[in-house]
Parts: sequence; structure tokens; C-alpha cells
Amino acid sequence: MASHPLIAHARQQGRTLLTELESKQVLHDLGIPTALGQLATSDDEAVRLADAMGYPVVLKIASPDIVHKSDVGGVRLHLQHGAEVRQAFHAMQQSVATHAPEARVDGIIVQPMAAPGVEVIVGMSKDATFGPVLMFGLGGVLVEVLKDVAFRIVPLTPHDAAEMIREIQGLPLLTGYRGATPADLQALQDILLKLSAFVAETPEVHEIDLNPIHAYAQGALAVDARVVLEATPAST
Ligand code: ADP
Ligand code: MG
Repeated sequence: MASHPLIAHARQQGRTLLTELESKQVLHDLGIPTALGQLATSDDEAVRLADAMGYPVVLKIASPDIVHKSDVGGVRLHLQHGAEVRQAFHAMQQSVATHAPEARVDGIIVQPMAAPGVEVIVGMSKDATFGPVLMFGLGGVLVEVLKDVAFRIVPLTPHDAAEMIREIQGLPLLTGYRGATPADLQALQDILLKLSAFVAETPEVHEIDLNPIHAYAQGALAVDARVVLEATPAST
């Protein structure tokens, strides 16, 4: 199968890192729900996009050189109206110029603010022995500090997907801890299986990071995404 046009496009430009927008578009086209956004190159354009999208919105820096956007002041959440968007647009430009002066900046992404959910992460990396493996865990501090994650080798069976979600220590956070509404585990399994199929047929993908995905009582939504390609194109 031919790879996604955005993968070919990045290749042509000699890039291995797909932007957040490109990564989300690729995932969206696989049937994985993502909080897509649009690129603004001026404050007026950002406000226009936000007005059309509806509030609240999120602004994010769009740069091929910045992987961790929050670290450089490149994520602003909960923006409620045009004046806030305009102010955040300029504050973000300044902050990024200070913290990442060398970074090329394509513009600033405007995207809808996703409803809160349980934050989970899904990743794909390549193991020297096993090849592509998928990882599932709870987002934020649980992954960073406690390494509470599960792995399975690609391709995943539906049983693998169901099992890996259920083996993390933090499972109660997804199944209705202290009366909370349980998360839609089927939606998370579906994301794992779609990614597995994609990875199995796209050897030129080196790494995938969906961090975080908001898990809801019904459905789930990837609010950040990163796809990294192999340095040398896979021979086909
Ligand atoms: P980073 O590059 O720093 O990982 P993210 O895009 O993950 O940037 O944004 C940082 C945090 O902001 C996320 O972990 C998530 O909690 C929150 N966030 C990002 N985008 C959205 C969104 N569209 N809706 C709601 N929350 C968001
Ligand atoms: Mg992130």
C-alpha cells in the first residue's frame, strides 16, 4: 500500500518529524479521533479561526524544531474569546523566541479545547529484537515516574489490545474509581488495533507518540500526536 501523502511530502522535504498537524491528519485518516487544528500565521487569522471553531480554544506553537511544546511556553489552554487568543498569540511568540531562539516557526495552531478525560498515552517504538512494539499507559506523572505501562509486539490481536489495557496498575482510574464514570475501553482498544495495522504496513514509520489521549465515558480523543519517520526510506 502507498504511504500517506503527508509522509511522502515530509520525505520530499528531507524531514523525519511530522508536525503535530500532519501527525493528527495521518491518524485521523486511519480512523483515530484527534483534536485537529488549523495553522494561523497572524493574530487576526488566529482569532478568525477561533471564532469559526467556537470557544474555548487552545493555541500551540507549530515548529519542526520543537518537540516538547509546553517546555517553551508553546501551549495555551482554555482561551475563551478573541482578545485572549490575540494576547496568547503574542505571548507565545515571545516565549518561544526567548526559550528556543533557533527554532523555525511555521505559525501557531488553533484547535478546539477538548473536554477533560482520563489522560492515557499510546506509543510505538522499534525494539532491536522484537521490531515494532506498542505501548499503553496512563498519562502524565504515572508514566514518567511510575513507568506504569504495558507493551505488546505488532501486530496486535484484539485479545492483546484488551489485555494490555487491563494489565496496568492504574486500571482503576479507567474503570470507575470512587464512583467515576468508567472510560470507554473499547475505544482505546480500537485505537491500539488501528495503529498496529498502520505500523505493520508502514515500515518507514520509526516512532509514534499519542500523548495524551483523553479517554471518555464514550469514545476517546488524541489531543497531541507525533509521528517520526525512519532516517532512511525503507526499500519497497
Ligand atoms: P507537549 O508538546 O508539551 O506535549 P501537548 O500538545 O501535549 O504539548 O499539550 C500539553 C498538555 O495540554 C497536554 O498534555 C494536555 O493535557 C493539554 N492539551 C493539549 N491540547 C489540548 C486540547 N486540544 N484540549 C485540551 N487539552 C489539551
Ligand atoms: Mg504532549
